[in-house]
Amino acid sequence: LACKNCDTFPCARDRCLCPCFKRRLAMTTPTNDSVRQLDQQYVFHSWSAQEGRHPLVIAGGKGCRLWDYEGHRYLDFSSQLVNTNIGAQHPKVIEAIKAQAEQLTTIAPATANLARGEAARLILSHVSDRFSKVFFTNAGADANENAIRMARLYTGRDKVLSSYRSYHGNTGSAICATGDWRRLPNDYARGHVHFFTPYLYRSEFNAATEEEECAAALRHLRRIIECEGPSTIAAILLETIPGTAGILMPPEGYLKGVEALAREFGIVLIMDEVMAGFGRTGRWFTFQHYGIEPDLITFAKGVNSGYVPAGGVILSNEISHFFDNRMFPGGLTYSGHPLAMAAIVATITAMEDEGIVEHAARIGDDIIAPALRRLAERCPIVGDVRGKGVFHAIELVSDRETRAPLPAAQMAVLKADLLARGMLSFIAENRIHVVPPCVVTVEEAEEGLAIIEAALTALARSQD
Ligand code: PLP
Repeated sequence: LACKNCDTFPCARDRCLCPCFKRRLAMTTPTNDSVRQLDQQYVFHSWSAQEGRHPLVIAGGKGCRLWDYEGHRYLDFSSQLVNTNIGAQHPKVIEAIKAQAEQLTTIAPATANLARGEAARLILSHVSDRFSKVFFTNAGADANENAIRMARLYTGRDKVLSSYRSYHGNTGSAICATGDWRRLPNDYARGHVHFFTPYLYRSEFNAATEEEECAAALRHLRRIIECEGPSTIAAILLETIPGTAGILMPPEGYLKGVEALAREFGIVLIMDEVMAGFGRTGRWFTFQHYGIEPDLITFAKGVNSGYVPAGGVILSNEISHFFDNRMFPGGLTYSGHPLAMAAIVATITAMEDEGIVEHAARIGDDIIAPALRRLAERCPIVGDVRGKGVFHAIELVSDRETRAPLPAAQMAVLKADLLARGMLSFIAENRIHVVPPCVVTVEEAEEGLAIIEAALTALARSQD
């Protein structure tokens, strides 16, 4: 049968691809099935094989709760990709985006615009006066791309040192700087050298204590710098606390030691605060816990919780002045997009007014950290717990003695169980990352932790 509307043949309703059917499908009252079907039919997905996906359907949200088209509600303990620091649909941010949309939706990066200037001023108000300018990007990966480019131009050197256990984004240089498997299919750039950063639970250095791990990791980095040749190294790029690689807490003194090595050899120190920044660990920026001052800071995610894509690089006075009389060959059509900038201004203002950063610190110290310590005592498959603020990881093992990671199949069972219990989780390899929005309430934090404990207890019992 031909389609009644556009006369295209054939029209089999649920399989028809004629233009008017596509329109109709998009316009009918959505259900979980219809939206999932639409997605499966037309959307090409990142980081995934295209077949066999059964994506979760999300229709709306508020704060730490998200829901689908059929009224199922979820507690979001993932902050999506650890970006919704301010939760879903914060009314002041939504209002600011609407107001900016009424006034001006887009303008080229080279123009002066109130929202852009205000966003930069507010970001700079949360770092020391070592920093004086903000370069805006569309996301975290291009923030790292541009920071690397700045460091190369500034030093006239080429190499970038970064950790094997890191993720810096999925574009040219950022994916090459990424240390783990995610780099391998994309590794085509020269000048990227990787090294080991501290991870006491699985020490590369056979260290038994934090002090030993720290000292060995610093000796290792010094050797890498000496062997590569300090005069060839433009930058050391590090996540302050490596996030997707496992929320790996730097031991006391490690980042100070890295800072000292960078200064000794004239290397630009870039701290990637894309995931750890903007309140996640209970400070505006995580490096502020460690008494260091980088040369460049990259950010994205929490700066406006991803309500409109944005990221950027914060430049030290020195690097910023270097470009006073030199063109910086970077930037994209939408860099510093007005809607994203308005969302940044409203997000930072709301975080200041509502004490959201301090709240995240308290939730971490008073609720999450003690609960995870108790969990580690009670549950035999918990190997290690670590973190700060709303940035914690639970590392799961099948044997506490050997520390053998819990196999992927069991992690998949766990993820499905957490979802069935009403929780969206961030699971990476053999870890649950406890990363709710910074605005998570005490009750929500306790609810989420109880769900995790119940799911882990059930999983541990199923192994007996
Ligand atoms: N840097 C870190 C530490 C990240 O965690 C991520 C993303 O997860 C990125 C960079 C890349 O950010 P984006 O996905 O916004 O490009």
